[in-house]
This record gives sequence, C-alpha cells and structure tokens, in this order.
Amino acid sequence: NSDLHLQYQITSFGEGDRLLVARDITRLRRLEQTRQDFVANASHELRTPLTVIRGYVETFMDQDLPRPLARAMGQMQTQAIRMESLVNDLLLLSRLESSNHIADEHQIQLRPMLEQIHQDAQVLTQTQQKDHAISLQLDSDFDLAGQELELHSAFSNLVFNAVRYTPARGRIALRWWTDASGGHFSVSDDGIGIDSIHIPRLTERFYRVDESRSSSSGGTGLGLAIVKHVLVRHGAHLSIDSRPGKGSTFSCHFPPEMLVDAADRQTETAG
Ligand code: ADP
Repeated sequence: NSDLHLQYQITSFGEGDRLLVARDITRLRRLEQTRQDFVANASHELRTPLTVIRGYVETFMDQDLPRPLARAMGQMQTQAIRMESLVNDLLLLSRLESSNHIADEHQIQLRPMLEQIHQDAQVLTQTQQKDHAISLQLDSDFDLAGQELELHSAFSNLVFNAVRYTPARGRIALRWWTDASGGHFSVSDDGIGIDSIHIPRLTERFYRVDESRSSSSGGTGLGLAIVKHVLVRHGAHLSIDSRPGKGSTFSCHFPPEMLVDAADRQTETAG
C-alpha cells in the first residue's frame, strides 16, 4: 500500500538473532505534508497582492509628494520588498523540502557562477557602505553535477550572510577546492562570529542568534535552512566553524561522485 509509511529498525543481539521493529509513521507523514502544502499555497497566494501593492507604491513614489508622505511610501516599499523576499524564500524552501533528491542533474560551470556571486557580494558591501575586502580563490578544475539555481542560491546565501554579519572593512574569503574526500566550497569571514551553543540550531527555519541585529540586516531567517536542504539534495553537508568576535567559516562538502572534470565539458562542447 503506497499510502502506508513504515519506519524500520533492526537490532542485533545474541548469536545472529535480530529484532525487527516496524513503526507506522503514516499519520506523521500526512501532517508534515499538510504543513508543507499549506506553506506553499499561502506563499503562492501572497505573491499577487504583494506585486500589486508594490506597483502602486512605486507609482506614488514617482510623484512629487510632501516629505512625510514620501517617507511613508519609502517605508512601505522597503517592507513590501522584504515581504517579497520572505514569500520567495518560503516557496523555495517548501519546494526543496518536498524531496530529498534532485530530479535531474546538470554539469554546473562553477567558475562563472562563483565569479558572479563574488561580484554581487561586492555590490552588496558597497551598498551597505561596508567596504569589505572580498577574495575568490578557485583551486580546482573540477565542476559540480547538480541543480544550478539551487546551488547558486545556497552559495549566495552563505556569501551574503558573511557580508551582513561582518563589520565594515572586514575580510571575506570564498574558496573552491577538491581533494580525495570530494569538493569543498567555503566562506570565511572575520566578523561577529557565533557562540557554539547556537551552531546546532542555525539551520532551523527562522532561528536567529540576535533577533534585532538579524532582522535589521535584511535577511529572511530562512537562508541557512535553504542551504541545508539544497546540500542534502546534492548528497552534501554543511559544516560551521565559528568563534565569537573572531569570525566564521561555513563550508559545503560534496562527495567525489558529484565532481565532474571541467576539461570533459570543454571536449563535449567542442565535439
Ligand atoms: P538570516 O536571514 O537571519 O541571516 P540565516 O538562516 O541566513 O538567517 O542565518 C541564521 C542566523 O545565523 C543569522 O540570523 C545570524 O544570527 C547567524 N549567522 C549566519 N551567518 C553568519 C555569519 N557569517 N556570521 C555570524 N552570524 C551568522
């Protein structure tokens, strides 16, 4: 019966004796599915009214408004943009949660993707007047097999967090390298860092170390949850190394089977 979900646990004891326990988790699965569907539908329904509100606000902002009204319109625009990011992140997250595996994988050219993210981070640090020194180091000719939009979203979330949580003129380093254990993308910053008690919970939805600082930083509170789900779907995992006041390193580790030699792609396109 495809509607029945069972969870099995096998325990060995004695000489070759085994105990098999089957737990019926059908109800739990159904509840989880209902929650996911609700979040996906609600986010989807919120999109249109938000677009309309933003459209009207922007039309008003083009007029010559008295100063208090112009200020109010500016606030409305900022909040509408924030709500749009939230709705988009909720939609993305519910799509990612619906399966633990990517449906089809493609070879992703990492160099242009990471160069683009590097450039976007430089624009963000300028916009926030933080003037960070951001470096990009590509130490491998291997690319990744996977979903381009998902990985782009995961990597840029890590990089934009580094910009948000690093004070002005700090250093941020992006690096891609491979070794026998697979491929690694890391983002290091010398920013505010994170106390170790928070680290195990950072990838939970809306978990924030410092609510006031985080919500004013422009994030949605869903960034690391998105990163975690994207990595799980690629058979990869996230490791976080951080010290308060010193900085943080977020690293994504991909298994060797997700690596593709960049030279193979060139031969393919040439042929
Ligand atoms: P947010 O939108 O709040 O940034 P995230 O899920 O991306 O949500 O991150 C969760 C929390 O982890 C953040 O609110 C912040 O407290 C902490 N955090 C994430 N990245 C960093 C970093 N590079 N340095 C310090 N703290 C960080």
